[in-house]
Amino acid sequence: MQKEETNYWIQPKGVSKGLKVLNSLTRTKVDFIPIKEEEVGFYVCGPTVYDSSHLGHARTYIAFDVIRRILTDYFGYKVNFVMNVTDIDDKIILRSRENNQPFTELARKYEKEFFEDMQELHVLFPTVITRVSEYIPEVLDFIQKIIENKYGYESNGSVYFDTHKFWQDYKYAQLEPSSINDMEKRKEGEGVLSPNIEDKKNPEDFALWKKSKEGEPKWDSPWGLGRPGWHIECSVMASYILGSLFDFHGGGVDLKFPHHDNEIAQSIARFDYPQWVNYFLHSGHLFIEGRKMSKSEKNFITIKECLKEYTWVQIRIFFLLHKYDSPIDYSQAGMKHAVEITRIFTEFFNNVKIYLREKSWTDNMYFGETESKLTSTFTTLRNQVHEALCDNFNTQEVMRILGELVKVTNVGINDNVKPYVVKNIGDFITKIFAVFGITSSDDIGFIQQQQELISPIMNIFCSFRDEIRSKIRSKNFNTLLDVCDKVRDDDLPLVGIRLEDRTDQPSVWKFDDKDVLQKEREQKLKMKKMKEENKQKQLQKQRERIMKGKLKPQEMFLHLTDKYLKFDESGFPILDINGNPLSKKQIKNLQKQQNQQKKLHQAYLKFLEEEEKEKNNQNQN
Ligand code: AMP
Ligand code: ZN
Repeated sequence: MQKEETNYWIQPKGVSKGLKVLNSLTRTKVDFIPIKEEEVGFYVCGPTVYDSSHLGHARTYIAFDVIRRILTDYFGYKVNFVMNVTDIDDKIILRSRENNQPFTELARKYEKEFFEDMQELHVLFPTVITRVSEYIPEVLDFIQKIIENKYGYESNGSVYFDTHKFWQDYKYAQLEPSSINDMEKRKEGEGVLSPNIEDKKNPEDFALWKKSKEGEPKWDSPWGLGRPGWHIECSVMASYILGSLFDFHGGGVDLKFPHHDNEIAQSIARFDYPQWVNYFLHSGHLFIEGRKMSKSEKNFITIKECLKEYTWVQIRIFFLLHKYDSPIDYSQAGMKHAVEITRIFTEFFNNVKIYLREKSWTDNMYFGETESKLTSTFTTLRNQVHEALCDNFNTQEVMRILGELVKVTNVGINDNVKPYVVKNIGDFITKIFAVFGITSSDDIGFIQQQQELISPIMNIFCSFRDEIRSKIRSKNFNTLLDVCDKVRDDDLPLVGIRLEDRTDQPSVWKFDDKDVLQKEREQKLKMKKMKEENKQKQLQKQRERIMKGKLKPQEMFLHLTDKYLKFDESGFPILDINGNPLSKKQIKNLQKQQNQQKKLHQAYLKFLEEEEKEKNNQNQN
């Protein structure tokens, strides 16, 4: 069974925005025309979740993330982006047996990991995520319709797609007809746990529904307990969300046959209409040392491993330096190149920012020869960027052109070009990078926002660390906690962060309104000041009382020479000013006074002693 015909393809009618895409259905670049004027339906085959995601996945999902962003942020379409998760599959069953782990638990674990990895790579979340395990009723309904339309048949508890019947009415394997007889690919597509070949009418037929064997996940169906075949899920879920005809379908090039060819056949059979998708896009494969990076080949580098060595921006730039549909050979040299390109752009953005900061806006703004020359080159290169984006999302060419733009702008900066020209170019490159998902378009450069957010926090962190270090070095341990309080109460509120201590738990931090935090802080300071003032007042009173005891009791009367003529050895008066001895009453009175002063003086001496001790203690610390 091998008929090679030119593919027929029904070209959508409507308005083009100049974008041409390489359509795997026609194998040519064709105008992109959406079914609905501004809305675009996009389906991408998601991962089979039985192991950690590797750079091959990053290649494909970053490719479609960039395409999605270009459609949205450059061409202005509203993209409805649907991705499935294959959480029922032979590979998952086998791995869960190997790991002795429940089937669903394993699938959920790797699904979660996958989305975490995607988030790290700044791949946007799909508009809709469809797990096959959650669409079984829709799968059953779809298969039943295929049977009703006579393109499917039940055999021994499983259901198969009748490729020969389909072949009579439509074309089978439109994407990769040369692979129809590729037994290896067909076997791989059916899965290792696939039911008996003898059950099939024709060797090319494939399973829509597989009868479940002992220990395999199973669902009730009109044909007994079973589970969906691999290809059916995408036909069902894509059509369920996007309709029986939608704009884009994407996936890695290895999925062309049999997966995508079978998806197409099933959907045509179900809807009895010769076209299911208008544009089929395929991302090129990532190879490592000449071999396809894959889980089964065990030659993969996980996304997590790669992120330990390179930033997400460097990884995205590595892929942006290639066309999305070209094969890529992963190598250290290639990554080094991406790192270098990232550095060049980062330096450029920094130079632009410094230039704009330092240039005076009161200077002459005359549009002279330098300005005219650079502006005209900018216009040409900007048009070239547009053409490259229209040419099947050619990011490789865009990156080359932007590199050239950086070079001519650097020359302009050296020639003192007027700052507004530099600003326009900086904004343009930033905007394109925002479209590529490697920066935000709010300001020039990659990480301006992060820098602005992080700088004040880093300042606080550094001075906190410096204080702690110096206190530890000088063995001044008593005040370490004061430093911790200070960072919480005085420093972090200034940058809008509320740090809260909790008993028996780690402290928590939250973003909060700077003004609210500032007011709270002011109130706290006011209370603290009042307390401190009261304390000082009390201390002052105490001190005054203590100071009264400074005078020694034996010296307390000696200065009263206008009252007494003579004193004994202990400084006690014995004769009054007229030379007469004192009366008993006078003596008693003076003794009382002296006893009182003795007490005050003792308290004074004790105070001095304690003060001395405290001084010594402080010196020891
Ligand atoms: P899988 O998890 O194997 O079902 O693959 C999910 C997606 O990643 C499919 O679109 C694959 O084509 C794609 N993919 C897997 N390995 C690679 C690779 N080495 N290079 C590019 N894409 C890949
Ligand atoms: Zn698929």
